[in-house]
Amino acid sequence: MTPLLPGAVIDGQQVTLGVMGGGQLGRMFVHAAQAMGYATAVLDPDPASPAGLVSHHHIATAYEDPQGLAQLAACSAAITTEFENVPAPALAALASTRPVAPGAAAVAIAQDRAQEKAHFDRCGVPCAPYAVIETAEELAAISADLLPGILKTARMGYDGKGQVRVATQQALQEAWGALGQVPCVLEKMLPLASECSVIVARGADGAMVNFPVQHNLHRDGILAVTQVIDGLVDPALAAALVAAARAIAQGVDYVGVLCVEFFVLQDGRWVVNEMAPRPHNSGHYTLDACDQSQFDLQVRTLAGLPLVAPRQHSPAIMLNLLGDVWFGADGTEKSPPWDQVLALPGVHLHLYGKLAARRGRKMGHLNLIAATADEVRANALRAAAILGIEAF
Ligand code: ATP
Ligand code: MG
Repeated sequence: MTPLLPGAVIDGQQVTLGVMGGGQLGRMFVHAAQAMGYATAVLDPDPASPAGLVSHHHIATAYEDPQGLAQLAACSAAITTEFENVPAPALAALASTRPVAPGAAAVAIAQDRAQEKAHFDRCGVPCAPYAVIETAEELAAISADLLPGILKTARMGYDGKGQVRVATQQALQEAWGALGQVPCVLEKMLPLASECSVIVARGADGAMVNFPVQHNLHRDGILAVTQVIDGLVDPALAAALVAAARAIAQGVDYVGVLCVEFFVLQDGRWVVNEMAPRPHNSGHYTLDACDQSQFDLQVRTLAGLPLVAPRQHSPAIMLNLLGDVWFGADGTEKSPPWDQVLALPGVHLHLYGKLAARRGRKMGHLNLIAATADEVRANALRAAAILGIEAF
């Protein structure tokens, strides 16, 4: 691919990068693209979508609307995605006229837990023991070894939605019914010591770079805290997780930014959990703690620009700002005390421009950086206390 050089003018227009989806990931992609001199186009049906609000062009149609897709393709020189549930036919339609990264094949794998696990198997990366359940017969044949387990819908799950923890065959039957008997994956419940993720960026020429391993804390199935601090993840483990993430990207000839999530088990072993074909919430610290962010790398992979290994310059902690932070102990909505938070050193506030706060809704994140691990931890705990976020 000929690189789409920043600031190039095509047919009298600034070269434009397009994105399917207008959520916060799209918004941060748009910011990164614009900082480098690209114009941007967002396709998202919501007229107030976080990315649509800040983009040069916002096409507010359904994701599968042929006219909307044609409009996006007409104004964009290359197109990426910011959420994994982009309808496959929409991506295929775009790819018939424009470079699309990541490609439809990689996105299709990430959209389906059964396909995803088959891909991990092919790449020689271990995952939790599991079984695919599509029929009542398959359900009846489940081995007791997989219980207690977590029943997860094969498609459309996120932030712990579409998942039920089951301890018995009876509970499994009921859970499958409650999920509408859609295709599911039953995973054995594993004793976790910690959760980690690795973000890689891979170019069309096969060049690949990665960020350091992120240490993630989830609460109620939603990412709460990411810490990237030297010494927090054992170096041998970190090297193994990076190698696994790279193999997973290589295995689908991936182009773009890919996040791979892992479980570290109490006995020291590890397994892969899932992959996201896009920048990831656990990579938001890169905006302030690294010389290039995950969104900068998304721009580079999409535009065919050189990939240079990113360097983390400061220990970092990211606190997710869920809508809960907007509600007082008495349940009334309030504006969080940002003035107190911003009085702390090394704080970077990112809000996504969402008008309504709801519990569990991702409203923004707070990055903290400092010269030392002790300092960043102390300040992050202070910020958490001010915001009513549980200590970690
Ligand atoms: P995401 O928003 O990351 O896509 P998701 O809805 O796809 O989330 P998972 O990542 O599958 O959900 O699971 C959410 C969380 O539930 C995990 O981060 C982990 O804490 C817990 N969990 C999931 N599967 C298992 C398992 N097999 N054993 C133990 N804990 C698990
Ligand atoms: Mg997950």
